[in-house]
Amino acid sequence: MSRHPKKLLIIQAHPDDAEAWCAGTLALLADKGWNITIATMTAGGMGSYSMNERKTVSVRQKEAAAAAGAIGADYYCFNRRDGYLFDDEAIRIEVVTLIRRVKAGVVITHPPFDYHNDHRITHDIVDAATMVSTLPNVPSDEDPLLRTPVFYHEMPMNLTDFLGNPVPEPHFFMDISGKPMKMKMEMLTHHKSQQDLMRQMMGMEDFFGEMKRFNAELGDMIGVEHAECYWQHLGGGFPREPIIQDELSEYIHHRKKQDITGDTYE
Ligand SMILES: [Zn+2]
Repeated sequence: MSRHPKKLLIIQAHPDDAEAWCAGTLALLADKGWNITIATMTAGGMGSYSMNERKTVSVRQKEAAAAAGAIGADYYCFNRRDGYLFDDEAIRIEVVTLIRRVKAGVVITHPPFDYHNDHRITHDIVDAATMVSTLPNVPSDEDPLLRTPVFYHEMPMNLTDFLGNPVPEPHFFMDISGKPMKMKMEMLTHHKSQQDLMRQMMGMEDFFGEMKRFNAELGDMIGVEHAECYWQHLGGGFPREPIIQDELSEYIHHRKKQDITGDTYE
């Protein structure tokens, strides 16, 4: 049995990110009794064409809390300004403090090659903060963790980096067909304010439907209806224990090598 607590902290840049990229997996873990906290760096205050920033912050925080509540998760906001997120000492210490307060066994954040600048900055902050969460000299009000959390990255939009290049092969895909996909849609639909924004800003007529189609494309890659995919941070500084892969082993898939490269070599 893993020595890491079954407590997951997912830290994202904006409300709706956790739902868009990870909600199927979060629903599966919630079903297994995991304690889940969804945190966002910002309340997404720029994410509206019809409401001012203050009103947007208020609406989006309520949407995020309601979406988290659908799987019994808590919601926390670091209250940084949307679009103006910077990596500095203060935010790193706040993130360490939250990681310690929730006693995270697993932390998930954006990948370092994500298309969105706020997402990449969030990655940098969370990476740095998670790595030092056991160190007593970090000036935080909370006690240091006993073990560094296992660290994962979710997928970027379209599985490309910010230049549009294909990203490295995901370490694993998660089959979220059926109930978890249904729960993901329920969580996403709490973010009503984003339907109009995505229509005007990104030309997405149906934001929630687009997310579902994206999960169907990922599902196609592994022969299931809907999927999400992840990378584990294995390059040093974090435990290599495959906690999520073990916990959800019946939902884990990998692509065959020939499917990835188009070649058939072993
Ligand atoms: Zn975002």
